[in-house]
Amino acid sequence: MARIVMKFGGTSVADIARIRNVARHVKREVDAGHEVAVVVSAMAGKTNELVGWTREASPMHDAREYDAVVASGEQVTAGLLAITLQNMGVHARSWQGWQIPIKTDNAHGAARILDIDGAFLIKRFGEGQVAVIAGFQGIGPDNRISTLGRGGSDTSAVAIAAAVKADRCDIYTDVDGVYTTDPRIEPKARRLAKISFEEMLEMASLGAKVLQVRSVELAMVHRVRTFVRSSFDDPDAPGMGDLLNPPGTLICDEEEIVEQQVVTGIAYAKDEAQISLRRVGDRPGVAAGIFGPLAEANINVDMIVQNISEDGKYTDMTFTVPSGDVDKALAVLERLKASIGYDVVQSEAGMSKVSVIGIGMRSHAGVAATAFKALADRSINIRAITTSEIKISILIDGPYTELAVRTLHSVYGLDKQ
Ligand code: ADP
Ligand code: ASP
Ligand code: MG
Repeated sequence: MARIVMKFGGTSVADIARIRNVARHVKREVDAGHEVAVVVSAMAGKTNELVGWTREASPMHDAREYDAVVASGEQVTAGLLAITLQNMGVHARSWQGWQIPIKTDNAHGAARILDIDGAFLIKRFGEGQVAVIAGFQGIGPDNRISTLGRGGSDTSAVAIAAAVKADRCDIYTDVDGVYTTDPRIEPKARRLAKISFEEMLEMASLGAKVLQVRSVELAMVHRVRTFVRSSFDDPDAPGMGDLLNPPGTLICDEEEIVEQQVVTGIAYAKDEAQISLRRVGDRPGVAAGIFGPLAEANINVDMIVQNISEDGKYTDMTFTVPSGDVDKALAVLERLKASIGYDVVQSEAGMSKVSVIGIGMRSHAGVAATAFKALADRSINIRAITTSEIKISILIDGPYTELAVRTLHSVYGLDKQ
């Protein structure tokens, strides 16, 4: 007998027929004698609709009320799946975040899980009950419903798996695993049998939305054996209930990966914007003077490039922010014009960041040069570059995103044979 947490995303529970299919996946594991907890997302499109309504009600709104609205999508799915399971003869009960409780901090709209009462769920296992838990939500110190940021049900599932010391956390989605790049834009992408925690963390934070970044962090810290697999597979096909090697991609320690490639995957993030401050007086403290106030305004600054003028007196400071934050960032910079001391501020939206990821880069030279040449051969202009030990990120004009992803995917030999 094993203890398994199963998570189903929005497209997997998009309508009643799909919820029935999900229930068959759950029943398979229950019938095999395992202890099962299930985490569900809102039905596909529901969260977007709810977010849209909060904006329509008021563009500037109270984050606590945003959470009260958007957390409701998951409540519906949890109830519907519990009903469906009961109808199939499975002893199931739905639970919302506050009932367990899943305690979070007070950052409404992007809360972090602080604590989960694992004993509550273990008691349900003891009663032979399948707990169907609303993902994406918890309860804050203010005793109000909180949500975990978009894609947060992945994080609910991994955190619950850690809290109950589950043998496995299965993230069921609309693709059958983690691919070398988003299979929606590169049909030649290959499914990976395994990917290391570190690489998955980079892939997720650089745009691959198959897992929420925070869920990968938690899986890495708590060593949760996490699989990404398809909910659209026939629940009763051979091998689906394999305990140690279910179909899908395993996120694991790098030591578990035998054949390590230099490059594992390509990720992309659209809707980046570039902001440049021209002729900033170059003196100690100038970066702190710019990026401190931007951080205080909760603006996520990403790539930063600084060019010193020939006489060493001035610097151009260029950086990227999500397109949605440009106006807020420009307002902060305008307010600081006198104290920072710059000539002009320029901004351009519609950029994309494409990234090449692989732990093999640590020991291989020339990976970056290969990317630059491949993009140059396609006449794709590079606007900014950042690198770390295991990734290279390149800022380009948005319309070239797909071409750049496919070009890089092919130049590192990731295309399906
Ligand atoms: P869910 O609703 O199940 O949480 P998401 O839409 O959040 O599903 O994530 C699954 C999607 O992630 C896939 O449909 C795919 O388009 C996208 N994706 C992006 N990058 C990758 C990748 N490298 N491997 C697999 N899927 C990816
Ligand atoms: N329903 C939430 C969202 O769309 C959470 C999730 O699906 O993981 O972001
Ligand atoms: Mg998701």
